Amino acid sequence: MEAKKLIVGNWKMNPATLKEAEELARRTDADSKRLKNVEVVVAPPFPFLTDVRRMAKNIKLAAQDVSWEEQGAFTGEVSPTMLLNLNVEYVIVGHSERRAMGEGDEVINKKCSAARRHGLNVILCVGESIDIRRKGFGAAKKFVEKQILEGLKGIEKGKDGNEGEVVIAYEPLWAVGTGTADSPDDAVIMICFIKSILDSILRTSHSRVLYGGSVTPENARGFLENGEIDGALIGRISLKFEAFGKILKILG
Ligand code: PEP
Repeated sequence: MEAKKLIVGNWKMNPATLKEAEELARRTDADSKRLKNVEVVVAPPFPFLTDVRRMAKNIKLAAQDVSWEEQGAFTGEVSPTMLLNLNVEYVIVGHSERRAMGEGDEVINKKCSAARRHGLNVILCVGESIDIRRKGFGAAKKFVEKQILEGLKGIEKGKDGNEGEVVIAYEPLWAVGTGTADSPDDAVIMICFIKSILDSILRTSHSRVLYGGSVTPENARGFLENGEIDGALIGRISLKFEAFGKILKILG
């Protein structure tokens, strides 16, 4: 059976108020109601998770980050268990904006491991810079392969207990938040390559791989109707419920 498409809205540090977050969640939840073969997930900022959860009848929750520690003196951190208490099912790990803040592969690996060990599904973000892509697909593939192997070290073949799902979001850096998306054809080349890596290191025969980077209602069809692309990670447009709703309608 084919896996459900996965659409993840990454709200980042938005919206500014709880009232806006509730409205966004309510509208997104309503737009997700009739979708049969699609999982719609939203990733609000931590302080809004509890209230968004109350609105979430048809959508699932993701956190934008997670600690690898269980409990204790780690100011500002949020543990996997705390997220599970709020019915969070997914965590985004290694987003390019966090990598730009200095998060490296070792930390990303600890977060992936801890989250998955607790049964959270991990959405590991990978993607090359424009300088690397300009060198060609060979260089881009090498870079992305290293990010995946480092990020999932020790998670191969169930060594960590094989709990939550591992989803990869292929997000070329030059496409995230820029308004310049990759072409579906080029994204598929990278996504098929990523699937071949995952098939060789994970026990599961099919791992979902998403595309992310300036997905809009205008270009979404090209990504979402492609059988190799298992969904999308969407930033800015997930904050505009009408535009996000249009993207969901493509799948409905
Ligand atoms: C993202 O935040 O992961 C993202 C893809 O953002 P945007 O859709 O705005 O490019």
